[in-house]
Amino acid sequence: MSSYRPRKTLLASRTILVTGASDGIGRVAATTYAQYGATVLLLGRDRKKLEAVNDEITSSTDTSPLIIPFDLAKLHAQSEAELTESLQDAIEQLDGILHNASLLGSKLPVAHYPSNEWETVMHVNVNAAFVLTKALLPALERSSDASVIFTSSGVGRKGRAYWGAYAVSKFATEGMMEVLADELSDTNIRVNSLNPGGTRTAMRATAYPAEDPMTLPTPQEHMPLYLYLMGPDSQGINGAKFDAPSWKGPSDVH
Ligand code: NDP
Repeated sequence: MSSYRPRKTLLASRTILVTGASDGIGRVAATTYAQYGATVLLLGRDRKKLEAVNDEITSSTDTSPLIIPFDLAKLHAQSEAELTESLQDAIEQLDGILHNASLLGSKLPVAHYPSNEWETVMHVNVNAAFVLTKALLPALERSSDASVIFTSSGVGRKGRAYWGAYAVSKFATEGMMEVLADELSDTNIRVNSLNPGGTRTAMRATAYPAEDPMTLPTPQEHMPLYLYLMGPDSQGINGAKFDAPSWKGPSDVH
């Protein structure tokens, strides 16, 4: 249980992009960031689900989100230029990115893992986050205090049998975080990774079908850490790896 109690204006005047904002942890993070004053950019592949998140935010806060319907599986060289242009037009300044969207893929031995599925999982979980970050660096540079959070996993820190492309993609995510954090260490942009740990979402239910979801924490329970890393209280923390289940509060840096 975290001791962190952020003030309600923590993210006022900040613009934050959340990928995979249509469901699960990303949906809760986006609505929470809006409740703390942020203008949130909701990226996801399902427009209807994003509209429902948008409605929830506009009816419960004074902020106006922007919906970005986009399938990250389709973020290739051609669409990169298109997306970059439209994002740069829409976003003058960006104060944070929560890279949250991910595909689980199959749980299979490497020997039987379908190659095309491997590519898709790596593409959505790693390559798309790279392309988005690169496209948005100029907007992040215009912020006086920007935060980039990459979402990791326990299997991105210790490989485990049958977790295939998902586990490998999370190791790559950690690597991307470390490289970027080092490159940006003298700037106003900090970059960290966050492992939410087992959480009550659709992805977890797919990965562990026999598990009772009621034994798991909800995404809401992790929000103190998501707020801390996105807001000004984590200024100066760069290149660190966080675990939501064991995080006790701001003095607890890994
Ligand atoms: P969910 O599957 O519940 O939600 C994933 C989100 O990502 C959804 O909004 C989904 O959209 C979106 N998404 C998936 N593929 C794409 C795509 N191609 N383009 C755009 N959006 C896409 O996952 P969780 O909320 O459980 O997971 C969130 C993050 O936390 C992930 O990075 C996951 O790896 C990580 N994590 C989760 C754990 C858990 O126990 N839940 C444990 C450890 C890490 P749509 O609504 O269309 O499906």
